[in-house]
Amino acid sequence: MAKNPITSTVPFDEDGVHHGFLRLPYSHDLSAWGSLMVPICVIRNGDGPTALLTGANHGDEYEGPVALQHTALTLAPQTVSGRVIIVPYFNYPAFRSATRTSPIDKANMNRIFPGKPDGTVSEKIAHYFHEVLVPMADVVLDFHSGGRTLDFIPFAAAHVLDDKAQQARCEAAMEAFAAPYSTLLLEIDNVGMFDSDVEAQGKVFVSTELGGGGTATARSIGIAKRGIHNLLVHSGIVAGEPEAGPSTRLDMPDMDCFVFSENEGLIEPMIDLGEPVEAGATVARIWPMDRTGLAPVVCLAKTDGILAGRHFPGLVTGGDCVAMIAKIAE
Ligand code: ZN
Repeated sequence: MAKNPITSTVPFDEDGVHHGFLRLPYSHDLSAWGSLMVPICVIRNGDGPTALLTGANHGDEYEGPVALQHTALTLAPQTVSGRVIIVPYFNYPAFRSATRTSPIDKANMNRIFPGKPDGTVSEKIAHYFHEVLVPMADVVLDFHSGGRTLDFIPFAAAHVLDDKAQQARCEAAMEAFAAPYSTLLLEIDNVGMFDSDVEAQGKVFVSTELGGGGTATARSIGIAKRGIHNLLVHSGIVAGEPEAGPSTRLDMPDMDCFVFSENEGLIEPMIDLGEPVEAGATVARIWPMDRTGLAPVVCLAKTDGILAGRHFPGLVTGGDCVAMIAKIAE
């Protein structure tokens, strides 16, 4: 198999703080012998566990990038036992263009794992994570939010895994993050996800959905910063006490948690994020875009719970996820 062309300008095994780049040769119209320079920070102090912290897997989700910039600037190496690898802008071209997918190859970073060493730009980045960075890590935290088209109540997430001991370690890390909500997340489509790749390598994995709408708030960024600190303490990498807060445990037992639109139109939310929902309740109504005098189409909840996620833009089209309903765990 071809060798991955990415090289790191920073060492992974030297003590101290190293700021640099993952350099990927990228020949294009504006730079014949150019490179894509993905920022990376490695903070190491002696032997110990390794945490890999990533943001902007999707380029329009901002809590992770902001909180990870803060961590890279402020985490003192003398407080670390082991190593913290920080990549605030995982899908760097997507981040630069403020889009979910890469403008170079239109790839969704979270659907192309394990990537290819001789593939497109995004596939090469994915493959480098799969082959080099993830194997170094004991715990991986990948930040997500809703991006421009979804919005969520702030939660950290783990997945149902075949290996129940590994699942328990992931759930403990998720709860240590101490977001306002902690969710055992059901994925609509998990083929090619970074999550699945990391979990298949036997690592402790935590993901998040902290907000959305293509922006971040002081509150959602605060949750991200606190979560990073708490997870590093939980992993034995940073000394100190976690800043624990109350975290409500949520479950998503089946696909009835999702409500999809079968129509296009002007969406009217009927309940807001965090509010309780009963099965059969109208979560949104969709008004026609081309006339008056017609009743709106109703989108109905199929299960009880709270509204954990919703479609964000004012217009909706057939197939869009309108609502995600999670159950408060017993
Ligand atoms: Zn995302």
